[in-house]
Amino acid sequence: MSEKIKKNDREWQSELTDEQYHVTRQGGTEPPFSGEYADTETEGTYVCVCCGQPLFSSDAKYHSGSGWPSYRQPIAAENVEMNRDASHGMVRTEVLCSRCDAHLGHVFDDGPKPTGLRFCINSAALQLNEKESDAKSGGESEGKSEGKSAGKS
Ligand code: FE
Repeated sequence: MSEKIKKNDREWQSELTDEQYHVTRQGGTEPPFSGEYADTETEGTYVCVCCGQPLFSSDAKYHSGSGWPSYRQPIAAENVEMNRDASHGMVRTEVLCSRCDAHLGHVFDDGPKPTGLRFCINSAALQLNEKESDAKSGGESEGKSEGKSAGKS
């Protein structure tokens, strides 16, 4: 397992936008329906905006109506960590990046089957790496015609 990435606040602040910093390093929440990926259906892999670790696949994304990107499961269980979060007068389960401890969002148990989970994640904590749209077309082009070389000699 890769080791943790540790940076101080000033380093994070210099590498992130204010919104990204607020969400990932200060446990903030972006307003619903405000985030870049709330309605995104583009295929690809959502990685941690702080450290680039793959977190969620577009295959696991669904429309929850919550206003935040929602996923049925992480790309790998070990890529996220869960913490009990009793802030704001509720008991919730916080989801963090296992590599850099970025706050990502929360997980709820009202998701669709089969997992029954809803990973409710802030767009500001994610970066979508789009899937390469198509494999390179294999050299279909005409073989070079053997031009008769007007061989001068
Ligand atoms: Fe991370």
